[in-house]
Amino acid sequence: MITVTLLGSGGGMPMPQRFLSSLIIQYKGRKILVDCGEGTQVAMRKVNTGFKSIDIICITHIHGDHLFGLPGLLMTMGNSDRHSPVTIIGCEGISEVVKGLMSAISYLPFELNIIENPIIPLEIICSPDGLEVKEHGKSQVHEIIISTLELEHSSPCLGYGFHVIRKPKFSLEKATFYGVPKGIWGRLQNGEAVIYNHIKYEPSMVLGEKRKGIKISFITDTRPIKTISTFIQESDLFICEGTYGDNNDIEKAIKNKHMTFQEAAKLAKEGDVKELLLTHFSTAIGQPEDYRLNAQAVFNNTIIGVDGLTKTLSF
Ligand SMILES: [Zn+2]
Ligand SMILES: [Zn+2]
Repeated sequence: MITVTLLGSGGGMPMPQRFLSSLIIQYKGRKILVDCGEGTQVAMRKVNTGFKSIDIICITHIHGDHLFGLPGLLMTMGNSDRHSPVTIIGCEGISEVVKGLMSAISYLPFELNIIENPIIPLEIICSPDGLEVKEHGKSQVHEIIISTLELEHSSPCLGYGFHVIRKPKFSLEKATFYGVPKGIWGRLQNGEAVIYNHIKYEPSMVLGEKRKGIKISFITDTRPIKTISTFIQESDLFICEGTYGDNNDIEKAIKNKHMTFQEAAKLAKEGDVKELLLTHFSTAIGQPEDYRLNAQAVFNNTIIGVDGLTKTLSF
C-alpha cells in the first residue's frame, strides 16, 4: 500500500488557500517528498505527516516555487531528531543550488547525499534506517524504482516516475522441486539469496509469475512533449501540471512553457493512465474546479487537485 498526498497545488507564488508545488509519498512508514516549494513544512503540519521520516527529496527544477521551502524543511527535520542521511535528487545544477541554500544553515545533524541528473533509474530499498538509494544492479531486494525524464521548460527540469514493485507469487511447485527448506522461503521470496547447510538457494527457486506493481508519475513544469506519454504509460496515478484551465490560454502556455488542463488530459489519454490529478495552478485561477470539463472532455477520470488531497493505492 502506498499513500500520496498533494501538499501544495499552486504554481508561481504561495496563496492563502494554495501552497506551492509539493507532494509526499508514504510507503511502509517512510517518505519521499517531491518538490518543496515555500511553505511546504506548513502544508505538512496541516496534514500531520511528520518530518523525521523523509528519506528522499526529489526536486523537479530550480525555480523558487519548487524548492524555496528546502532550507526551512531541512532545519525542521534536524530539530526533529533526524540523524540518518537524506538523499536529494534533482536536475542539472541542483548540487550548487543546495550548497548555496545550505549556507544559511549553520548545522544539520544528518548527512545530505545529492544525486544530480540521474541517467539510469535509481533502485530504492527499505532498510531499518529508512529508504536508501542503491546503485543500479547492486540490490536484489529493491522495492521502489525512481526514474526521471527530461522535460521542456524554461530551465532544466525532470519528471519523476515511482514504480513500487510487487513481489512475484510464491511458487510451491518450484520450492518443492528444488527442495528448498521451509524456514528460508520468506527470505528468498523477499529477493535474498540464502546459504543454508552449505547450500546456496536463489530467490528464483521459489518465485513464480511476475505481478504488476504500482506506478505513480509526476510531471511539472513543462510543455506536453511526446516522450511524456511513453514515460507515464499505464500509471495508476498521473500527477500533472495544469497551469492554465482555460483552453484559450494556450498561447500563454506555449510562451511560459507550461500546459493547459486539456493538454495534460491529452497526455493522460495517450499514456493510458488510470487517473489524472491536476496541480500547479496559476495564481490567476481562482477556482480550478471551474475548468474541470476542459480536461474531462478529453480524459474523464480527472481530479482537480486541492491541498491536502490524499490517495491510497494498493496492489
Ligand atoms: Zn512552477
Ligand atoms: Zn518552473
